[in-house]
Amino acid sequence: MSETSPAYEGLADRLHEVQAGIADACRAAGRSAEETTLIVVTKFHPASLVEALAGLGVRDVGENRHQEAQEKAAALAGLDVNWHYIGQLQTKKARQAAQYASAIHSIDRARLVDALAGVDRQLDVFLQINLTDDPGRGGAAPSEIESLTEQILGTESLTLRGVMAVAPLEEPAAAAFERLAGYSERVRSFAPDATAISAGMTHDYVEAIAAGATHLRIGSAITGNRPDAR
Ligand SMILES: *Cc1c(COP(=O)(O)O)cnc(C)c1O
Repeated sequence: MSETSPAYEGLADRLHEVQAGIADACRAAGRSAEETTLIVVTKFHPASLVEALAGLGVRDVGENRHQEAQEKAAALAGLDVNWHYIGQLQTKKARQAAQYASAIHSIDRARLVDALAGVDRQLDVFLQINLTDDPGRGGAAPSEIESLTEQILGTESLTLRGVMAVAPLEEPAAAAFERLAGYSERVRSFAPDATAISAGMTHDYVEAIAAGATHLRIGSAITGNRPDAR
């Protein structure tokens, strides 16, 4: 992907608008914006968009499909960005994802932790928690928090950073993120260093910040509408 990046019309303005929105939400919550990491979600967009974002100072990008992420990370191997894997991850692809990802936010089952044991580098992980009662959604059930936390803590190659969740559509985001904050406390009660909370997307990052989110995963507010899925 060495061809000249197309001029991404309005990208800088949208990025700065979101950064200002984050600063406002932090101020309103009595928090410092420095406690937060903005992960710009670039799924479905070409590698050239990631390059353009890096040119604007973005250092963290998020992807939710392994093959697409792997291709982009390979095409942009020299670029100084951290790839955050935020989507459902097949067990058999886990070790491959660990090659390009600096963090995996979607750890939700024991077999996935097993698959990542023994990767030859230190990998940051987040325990994804399902905030709905529908087991078909991504994330571990709250009843699995203790056992998965212990398993991750016992896996040398993994550094547990904290919890991750997606707000359900069926309820106000603020209520769901309050529950997530409670789950974060449960994790921290036996993993005191796992203080991070990965939550907040385009339409709910203000509520997520109010509930303590540290890692914001924001896509369309910055990138514009996503191209159709391939
Ligand atoms: C796509 C996606 C996002 C970003 O969504 P936007 O609404 O575009 O901000 C965040 N988290 C996950 C897990 C996603 O799949």
